[in-house]
Amino acid sequence: MRFPAELQELQPQPGPSPWDARFSDSARCMVPSEVRSLFSAAASPGIVSLAGGMPDVGALPMDTMASILADVVRENGTTALQYGTAQGDPGLRRRICEVMALEGITARPDDVMVTVGSQQALDLVARVLLDPGDTVVAEGPTYVTALGTFAAARARVVQIGMDRAGTVPEELAAEFARLAAEGRPAKLFYTVPTFQNPTGIRLAAGRRQQILDVCRAADVLVVEDNPYGLLHYDGTPSRALCADAPDRVVYLGSFSKTLAPGLRVGWVHAPTELTRKLVLAAESAMLSHSALTQLTVDRYLRTEPWQERLGTFRTRYRDRRDAMLRALTAYMPAGTSWTIPDGGFFIWVTLPDGTDSRELLPRALAAGVAFVPGTAFHADGRGARHARLSFSYPSPADVDEGIRRLASVLGEQP
Ligand code: PMP
Repeated sequence: MRFPAELQELQPQPGPSPWDARFSDSARCMVPSEVRSLFSAAASPGIVSLAGGMPDVGALPMDTMASILADVVRENGTTALQYGTAQGDPGLRRRICEVMALEGITARPDDVMVTVGSQQALDLVARVLLDPGDTVVAEGPTYVTALGTFAAARARVVQIGMDRAGTVPEELAAEFARLAAEGRPAKLFYTVPTFQNPTGIRLAAGRRQQILDVCRAADVLVVEDNPYGLLHYDGTPSRALCADAPDRVVYLGSFSKTLAPGLRVGWVHAPTELTRKLVLAAESAMLSHSALTQLTVDRYLRTEPWQERLGTFRTRYRDRRDAMLRALTAYMPAGTSWTIPDGGFFIWVTLPDGTDSRELLPRALAAGVAFVPGTAFHADGRGARHARLSFSYPSPADVDEGIRRLASVLGEQP
């Protein structure tokens, strides 16, 4: 099978390079993710991208954002343009505690550290908690870049399947027991419990306490990665796992989906001793976070009707989800099924028996639509019958057209 030029990176890299001997073991475990490699192809003109999970930042009031940035420099320039602390701006950390309260968490600003997106939080958590060979349990499928972070930490990732209500507590307990019996007990349970990337699944309310009980019984720390929690389409947000077990849960938050990923502001909330260590790790990683973007987020939260605006974003994303669900129903061939998320950015599609989503991808690109093959979200090559479709960025009309194209390629013989 030939891949278009933009996708050559998806192929195994040719032979050993003289650099291999120079690279650290950790660097040798860093390999390009299928999603990152896809971005250039998906951005080509004429392609409807259902690949990247990008927020629709065009929905932000740009004049207001420009004024906020200008006001921050005019009124707080000497702070905004100066070094700050590695833990982050105290005012923003107070405001982050208010945001976390929406999901039932009672947080203290001292236990919050601001990070360069939640991705950096995950990287620092891995650095501080994982040694090579440690075992991380994660959902199968799981967030692709978390797999990259754990690979760079040279941790072993064991993935366990979910049903429509998320991780099954009994299965998690059985996996923990199996790993302990093997002599390699799990150290972390990494989970995206709410509107998961890539499936859109939300862990059922009734299972949340059970999952925490299972982790407590096995003495496993939970990493709750929660960038989509406030993007629920109906009702109220789910109660975060961290709300009921702040001593056991390391919580990763982000303004990337509720405001703008270009600001690169996320955070980690952790038990006090762990936060202290994370601050030391952050100092060696970046000295201090950008004060300019932190004060921008702080001002946005103080001066803008941000909760109302979140409501507008939710409606926008719900409309796009509805457009995708309608199109899937209208166009997809028999034997295809999909999740029905009630928040977030993603739908997880199960393709007809015998379909390999990696084989499908170059044909889909040729037909003008991009998606992410399910294998990207597994550490062991599983997921070939699946695809992640993101509806957050294209307009409802483009979502419809993208699914129509994908369905027509699925209907053809390879
Ligand atoms: N975790 C998950 C589950 C995500 O989907 C993403 C973004 N795609 C991130 C973390 C990273 O987000 P950021 O670094 O922009 O906060």
